[in-house]
Amino acid sequence: MNYLFGIDVGGTNIKIGLFTEKGELLEKNSIKTKKLDDGAYIIGDIASFCLSLLEKKGINKKEVLGFGFGIPGPVSNNRVIQAPNIGWKNLDLAKEFQNAIGFKTIIKLANDATIAALGEYKEMGLKENIVFITLGTGVGGGIVLDSKAIEGAHGAGGEIGHIKVEYNHPIQCSCGLYGCLETVASISGITRIAQELIDEGKFETTLNKNHLNPKTIFDAARSGDQLGNEVLNHVSDYIGRACASIAVTVDPAVFIIGGGISNAGDTLLNAIEKAYQKYSHYGTIKATFRLAELGNDAGMYGSAELVRGQLE
Ligand SMILES: [Zn+2]
Repeated sequence: MNYLFGIDVGGTNIKIGLFTEKGELLEKNSIKTKKLDDGAYIIGDIASFCLSLLEKKGINKKEVLGFGFGIPGPVSNNRVIQAPNIGWKNLDLAKEFQNAIGFKTIIKLANDATIAALGEYKEMGLKENIVFITLGTGVGGGIVLDSKAIEGAHGAGGEIGHIKVEYNHPIQCSCGLYGCLETVASISGITRIAQELIDEGKFETTLNKNHLNPKTIFDAARSGDQLGNEVLNHVSDYIGRACASIAVTVDPAVFIIGGGISNAGDTLLNAIEKAYQKYSHYGTIKATFRLAELGNDAGMYGSAELVRGQLE
């Protein structure tokens, strides 16, 4: 029997999944991300964990078809350009991991939001083009066209969080630009919008200014809170606008909404879809919206798919 690994490298934990060659998950594990010395120990830690897992399972190295990696930063030509969270810069991870693991095999890497898109796409059994948007601490995305995750010429394909959506009162984004989607649809962005509306005092609310986060805000919206609904509409409007722009570029069949904020479920999904239809071109208006299904495991599944894509 043949196996492959899907590895999602995060700033706090590294998820390591052991898959069959058909892409079925056999076992998932998580190890801590050692960020010391610009992440110098991470590759060795992953390699020794995988080697001991193979030994424990009685799997021969010859049965390992490859390792896929999801990286928290841009990747180009199988090289990490930068992953500021863990200190990596211009890193030939494939070569270093090959040395650490000590045997020849396929090693493929891609940006973490890009592989999450690929993971959701495969697990949902979709065939058409999709755009995946993850809403959390940041806003990221991935695009799958003709079954391939788009990396782009500079590793920045699918950086949906940095589409400009606010022109009147733009605030600065973590990327240095102003008015990016991330400044209004991330955890801190949504919370800030609620705070500003509370300060304005135009809408009635039961929300407490000191206990605001996307969950409390969208829960309030669902139970009819006026201010909560105002925030929901603001945020969905921005996301809908960004999706309409993406739609006339890649014309996806489905937008998949994931990340922690998507736990707001249908309340958020329906509001985004409504806003999207307001802004979208007649040729793209039929695109549908779905909630992501794999949660934090999407990257692990997508990493395994990266390797499977090399085998076909
Ligand atoms: Zn930005």
